[in-house]
Amino acid sequence: MIPSLTATDAGNADACIDTLARPLEDLRLSVIDQCNFRCAYCMPKDVFTRDYPFLRAAERLSFEEMITLARTFVGLGVKKIRITGGEPLLRKDLPRLVEALARLETPAGKPVEIAMTTNGALLAAQARALKDAGLARVTVSLDALDDHVFRAMNDVDFPVARVLDGIDAALAAGLAPLKVNAVVKKSRNAHQILPLARHFRHSSVNLRFIEYMDVGGADGWALGEVVTAAEMRTLIEREFALVPQPGRASDTATGFRYADGGGEVGFIASVSKPFCGDCTRARVSADGKLFLCLFAGRSLDLRPWLRAGQTGQLEQAIRAGWRARTDRYSEQRGALRASGAGRRYPVVRMSLVGG
Ligand code: SAM
Repeated sequence: MIPSLTATDAGNADACIDTLARPLEDLRLSVIDQCNFRCAYCMPKDVFTRDYPFLRAAERLSFEEMITLARTFVGLGVKKIRITGGEPLLRKDLPRLVEALARLETPAGKPVEIAMTTNGALLAAQARALKDAGLARVTVSLDALDDHVFRAMNDVDFPVARVLDGIDAALAAGLAPLKVNAVVKKSRNAHQILPLARHFRHSSVNLRFIEYMDVGGADGWALGEVVTAAEMRTLIEREFALVPQPGRASDTATGFRYADGGGEVGFIASVSKPFCGDCTRARVSADGKLFLCLFAGRSLDLRPWLRAGQTGQLEQAIRAGWRARTDRYSEQRGALRASGAGRRYPVVRMSLVGG
């Protein structure tokens, strides 16, 4: 059943609440569509070649445009901004953007939380400057501990040790607790689940395992390659007892703590238990297109208003877009898969819109 707006929301002309009663609270801001990795589930080498038409620098939003955009979103209810990509650390001078974003305040005068998702390859050199600029949290993607498996998965022969150095540098800079996200693909890294769990127990790292999704980029996706969150949890529980943790409704991960005090671990069941009911996230691509869902086929180009300095119209357009939002693609795609329809729906590239 589709929940209707409450009387209070409906009576508030400024409220930014969609047709399924979900408020706009999070912004994922992609700063670049390029990446230095070629993970087959996201940016496969045969598609993302040297000739691939990545955005040219002039097509990307400038930092000033991103700051205007972020300020507008914060005025509409956003409390948390996650910087993503592509690989965000490839964008030059990123601390300058972080510094400006970290100065934003919500209409209630509270600071906006600035977070970032990165593959960690360039983190060791930049962690301190990012922390000093006001970055509050960082999530590092890491799919394997075994160097051979990791090099094969990133498909550019990048050594795992340098990502681990990046994680250590981030922790040393005070970016703790830090999250590590591992995407699990049955034939590639299912055997890395336990080594990753063992490695990050008793550390300031909150490890989360993500089900392999059929997002844009994952061209050869097959249900048989998905290890479900329940299967991953069972595997870990063979070695370590887990206790469920209560979480925020809009949290993407189901959280657990190790019963012996070894820290936390989580599972993101984006395929086996798609969650759209509490999705409060808007996404903006590096060229300024607003996507209301990770799987949206359509977007709204915000650049014309940004480039013309028409912030009032920009705000109206975002508000109107969010209020008309009906997206619940993950749930709908689950139904399609159950009917055996396969992937016949259009998908936006994850590297463009950010994870
Ligand atoms: N380059 C950054 C990074 O590696 O974290 C940020 C962008 S990346 C697109 C964001 C996240 O999306 C990563 O954690 C990545 O593992 C995840 N991701 C990409 N393709 C995926 C897929 N097919 N299934 C599940 N997660 C995926």
